[in-house]
Amino acid sequence: MIYYKQVKSAFIIKLLGQKDTIAMTIWPFIITRDATISAETLRHEKVHLKQQLRGWLIGFYIKYFYYQWKYGYKNNPYEIEARNKTSL
Ligand SMILES: [Zn+2]
Repeated sequence: MIYYKQVKSAFIIKLLGQKDTIAMTIWPFIITRDATISAETLRHEKVHLKQQLRGWLIGFYIKYFYYQWKYGYKNNPYEIEARNKTSL
């Protein structure tokens, strides 16, 4: 069981996400473009919650954005881990 609060904000998604982003996680919030997300998307975002806590938040964000710059979204090790633990 991991605590989170789901928040719908198309504005934040537009501001921080990509064109096709449907959800993003900034602990303790799972921010979504629409009011509902699929169970698989929720599972994917929960992996990111665990990664963020594991990295003491700041460590995660520094590494996430470094990986994003170095490998891109698809090959970002945090995204690979989240994909491997879900079908997304
Ligand atoms: Zn992800």
